[in-house]
Amino acid sequence: MRMPEPGSLPRRGREAWRAGVSGAAVSGVTGADVAVVGAGPVGVFLATALALRGLDVVLLERRVGERRHSRAIGIHPPSLAALERLGVLDEILRRGMRVDRGVLRIDGQDAAALEFARVPERHPFVITLPQVETERILRARLDALAPGALREGFTVGRIEALPGRVRLHAVAGPSAVDARLVVGADGPLGVVRRAAGLGGTSRAYRHRYVMGDVADETDDGATAVLHLNPDGIVESFPLPGGVRRWVTHLPEQHEQHGTCGSSHRRAAEDDDGARAAARLADLVDARTGIRIDPATTTMTSEFGVRRAAASGMARGRMLLVGDAAHEVSPIGGQGMNLGWLDADELAEIVPEVLRSGRREPLVAWQRRRLASAARAARMAEFNMAMGSPCGPLAFAARRLVVAGASGPLLAGRLARAFTMHGL
Ligand SMILES: Cc1cc2nc3c(=O)[nH]c(=O)nc-3n(C[C@H](O)[C@H](O)[C@H](O)COP(=O)(O)OP(=O)(O)OC[C@H]3O[C@@H](n4cnc5c(N)ncnc54)[C@H](O)[C@@H]3O)c2cc1C
Repeated sequence: MRMPEPGSLPRRGREAWRAGVSGAAVSGVTGADVAVVGAGPVGVFLATALALRGLDVVLLERRVGERRHSRAIGIHPPSLAALERLGVLDEILRRGMRVDRGVLRIDGQDAAALEFARVPERHPFVITLPQVETERILRARLDALAPGALREGFTVGRIEALPGRVRLHAVAGPSAVDARLVVGADGPLGVVRRAAGLGGTSRAYRHRYVMGDVADETDDGATAVLHLNPDGIVESFPLPGGVRRWVTHLPEQHEQHGTCGSSHRRAAEDDDGARAAARLADLVDARTGIRIDPATTTMTSEFGVRRAAASGMARGRMLLVGDAAHEVSPIGGQGMNLGWLDADELAEIVPEVLRSGRREPLVAWQRRRLASAARAARMAEFNMAMGSPCGPLAFAARRLVVAGASGPLLAGRLARAFTMHGL
């Protein structure tokens, strides 16, 4: 379905773009200024930010209840500022773990340190918090601002362009929502992106990783550690509650060329999870000499990685944010944060767009956000390249890069890149 651009609408269409939606006149159809599809971290953030600006917003989510699996843990300085604007920063700081530095470690020795305090941001540190908890905090804020805005168990199926609005039909039953703007926060290859006809590019990397959350028995406290090893990187991040997240590159025999996306398994729930926990412990031991206890693993996940981007983030009355618009490799931990920054900027311009029908702010927004996503994707590629298995010569070259990073200039640049400064 092709939506007309608001700038090219005839006079009647332009008036309808500015006018309210009165879907309630039709049985089973409710109306809203903005309908957000997908209540992942980005959709909930956006709905909350729009509610904060007094807009009538509805958030449609096919799942019922909380997600049980935590993917993202790192919340970076630009997001902390955005979460402050949303009114949830105190809660995030209270529940999360503050990380002020990261170190690059080779053969058990710290080879370079990244001090986040030097990053020129209002909140110059990273907070780690399991995504499930972050989503819980965001949902509570939305519920306080706009009770009933979240409609769970509503899977958006058909999307229909009508004069001055878009109608979202539930897959099951006669329910539908009319909205003046629709935002797809429905993850990779979501229904909104398809309906908007926003294609794009997608590239699967051959790397695969295993991760797990394990009781922390290291002496690393609140420091994030990247252990560089010629057999593959081992990353270790502190989490609240005496837990660390370990992530490591899977050896070649585990790599499934050409696959993409992620598969997740919970350790306690099945044999595969227990096997993954044991494999993670063995790999960490072999590459760092640190023995983690698989029995304390609360969650494991084996995942492949890919980079994808939609050809645009705005067409007609349909917009995309978060993974629906761009996916970056989780190695670097920036996907959720990128989505929040999309949403933070978008919420700022939506009231004006709805009032005036002007499209220019959306065009500028989409250009900035796609450029940020491309930068984050390049950073993730750098991380993956530094952490992939390699021969002695390539590893010697990596040692040189790390030695350079022990100098203040490169260390400062890396600290800014790792903490998403300027994205
Ligand atoms: C292993 C791993 C570790 C990661 N670590 C980090 C990290 O540390 N930091 C970071 O920033 N990022 C990280 N990420 C990336 C991060 O998890 C994602 O970028 C983030 O979840 C994207 O959020 P989203 O809201 O855009 O999409 P999603 O989380 O995918 O949410 C989309 C929502 O839309 C709903 N939906 C889909 N279709 C429909 C429909 N038709 N109707 C109604 N609802 C629908 C889905 O049910 C879902 O709830 C990691 C990812 C992985 C895989």
